[in-house]
Amino acid sequence: MKTDIDRKLRDFVGAKTAKTFTEVLGIETVGELLRYYPRRYLKKGELTPFDELEVGDQATVSGRVKRVTVRSLDSKLEIKPEDVNKYRRHKTITKVVVSDGRNDLELAFFNQPWLTNKLTVGTAALFWGEVTMFRDIMQLKGPGTEILDEEDLSEAEIERRAKPFRPLYPATAKLPTATIERSIKIVLDNLDDVEDPLPELILGQEKLIGLREALQKVHLPDTEQDWLAAQKRFRFEEALVMQTILAQRRAVTDALKAIPRARTGGGLLDDFDARLPFKLTAGQTEVGDEIFADIARPHPMHRLLQGEVGSGKTIVALRAMLAVVDAGGQAALLAPTEVLATQHHKTLTKMLGELAEAGMLGGADRATRVGLLTGSLNAAARRTAMLDAASGAAGIVVGTHALLEDKVQFADLGLVVVDEQHRFGVEQRAALSQKSGENTPHVLVMTATPIPRTVAMTVFGDLSVSTLTELPAGRSPIMSSVVPAKDKPAWLVRAWERVREEVAKGHQAYVVCPRIGDEVKNAADEEGEFATAADQADAKGKPPPAKSVLETAELLAQPLAGLRLEILHGRLPADEKDSVMTRFAAGEIDVLVATTVIEVGVDVPNASTMVVMDADRFGISQLHQLRGRVGRGKVQGLCLLVTDSWDASSARARLDAVAATTDGFELSRIDLETRREGDVLGVAQSGKRSSLKLLSVLRDEEIIVSARHVANSIVSVDPELTTYPSLRSYLDSVLASEATDYLEKT
Ligand code: ADP
Ligand code: MG
Repeated sequence: MKTDIDRKLRDFVGAKTAKTFTEVLGIETVGELLRYYPRRYLKKGELTPFDELEVGDQATVSGRVKRVTVRSLDSKLEIKPEDVNKYRRHKTITKVVVSDGRNDLELAFFNQPWLTNKLTVGTAALFWGEVTMFRDIMQLKGPGTEILDEEDLSEAEIERRAKPFRPLYPATAKLPTATIERSIKIVLDNLDDVEDPLPELILGQEKLIGLREALQKVHLPDTEQDWLAAQKRFRFEEALVMQTILAQRRAVTDALKAIPRARTGGGLLDDFDARLPFKLTAGQTEVGDEIFADIARPHPMHRLLQGEVGSGKTIVALRAMLAVVDAGGQAALLAPTEVLATQHHKTLTKMLGELAEAGMLGGADRATRVGLLTGSLNAAARRTAMLDAASGAAGIVVGTHALLEDKVQFADLGLVVVDEQHRFGVEQRAALSQKSGENTPHVLVMTATPIPRTVAMTVFGDLSVSTLTELPAGRSPIMSSVVPAKDKPAWLVRAWERVREEVAKGHQAYVVCPRIGDEVKNAADEEGEFATAADQADAKGKPPPAKSVLETAELLAQPLAGLRLEILHGRLPADEKDSVMTRFAAGEIDVLVATTVIEVGVDVPNASTMVVMDADRFGISQLHQLRGRVGRGKVQGLCLLVTDSWDASSARARLDAVAATTDGFELSRIDLETRREGDVLGVAQSGKRSSLKLLSVLRDEEIIVSARHVANSIVSVDPELTTYPSLRSYLDSVLASEATDYLEKT
């Protein structure tokens, strides 16, 4: 059904303006324009005749300019109109006398000499501000100004413009807020029929105003309550659209088929549990049970496991994988980097021991194999691994994400575990389904970067979430401090002494730098060591270049003389990376100078010390991750955040926050507060295309929760929304306009 909302804008505002809207904002229809909401509202005073003004009032007046003078406040001399531009940087006062036809009023503007060119004699304008008294003369001091065209001078137009709240739109030079306002006014005046996507019943339940009224009040409010009520309605609408899409998607996922992998007693899992050298934490057991219940269902699990750094997610994943192998299937473990994939392969193989030695001398009866598939394997190793995956001989296959894209075949892929990532895209899931025919594997996504509940409900709305907050018993807390290297060079000297002391005790240390040091500026490496913003600044020759791995390793030769020091970064050949990590894990290297290639996942419990160079160049979550590389065993961890930048207070606040707490959930909250919505959602939101215009996934938790309830109750009885045609067509239009790309990334 076509309604006025779908009409082209040019039918209302003229071809030229319509074209500008399309070019600048991508707006073509009346509906799109009406959903271009004001950024904020300008508060004015009440429109008041001059003779009724009282000192202290916030007032708006309408008048014509009678006289303008500019004076320099230094010389007290009057400035000629043609000279005002020379006084842009001087202290000036511009006095404007306006008349309402009967009385005069003086306006005083400070340091805006150019106003003389705008407020020429005869100009009609609105002015608003506080009424003050200066040397017995009533004034508006530094008022807001809006020049009126001659055609704006009808009483009604002046009244409207003088409304106490004026909408201010996100505007550009080509499309000023006044043009947007005027166009919206024309459209609203001519619009009769609008279909509300929100059903009556829901409006009533949620105490929301209808669409027609909300459009009026969001664009042309009379009172603050007006735009607040309108915004409340639109926020809910945005949340409902999003949650309905997610609820529909959940319904689709729920209808997908998976092979149930119920836990069978007496298999690899029981053997593994029996030989575990430690006791599982309560959280690990609990999350394990949640997963076992999920994968026993005939529908694919889709679960996010968020756990504090070092909380022991790998074992949770391994137990899930073993349950699947026991049930006759295979499991794949995907890691974000080769370093991590290789480490996982080693860890799993070691933890499983003879349980992973199928077909080998000494292998257990029920044993399976753990395969490794990464891009840098040689052809022979690759072929073996592919064969093991295809034949089912490897119960577990570890690899990077390439594992999914590759022509890797599995005999019976039952579970995919994605480590250290919380985005596992729709396309990736689709790729999985293709691999496994009509049955979709179960999916477990693991991340150490906690996500606030609302974000989980938004972006990850179709995931179930498990959380591991507790660390295994017996960990000593990590001590963290900030080392202001420039102000207190002695502290840096002391830092290297501490490293020596730790090594003397038999422990190991990491020294992390923001750059590799061999790069052409701005190089970002495929292993995720992104050049920092600072690197980009380097190119422009601004702040000094960040510390690099190569140069730091050289500088450390002296203070750390005698220690076994090696470097690691993403541009080393794969076998060299592997050899360095292996030797570090085996304790054959004392100090590893590395990039953030060791940021996530790396697990060497004997490492006690983490020194981060130019720590101010890293984000909060990143620092928390880096620190998480130490304190992973019984050894007391130490984290030193070295920085030269003492002036930039936000950088300092970040470092202080990290030093003050080891609670990743708390740090994540602080981190999110300092970030923009688009960053949180992981998309560059242009604003014009996003369907989230007024809703904040960080602040509007309550709205999102209730929209989710409503969406669930609608979709559970009517998944196709046949009884809600207007909601359905609105949803279609939102989806069609690609305004939900943040949802597509999940
Ligand atoms: P993350 O959650 O950061 O991925 P890992 O899974 O790498 O953490 O585990 C960190 C370390 O803690 C590993 O060395 C692991 O063997 C150890 N670990 C895991 N669970 C326990 C436990 N219940 N008790 C003691 N140590 C544990
Ligand atoms: Mg891990």
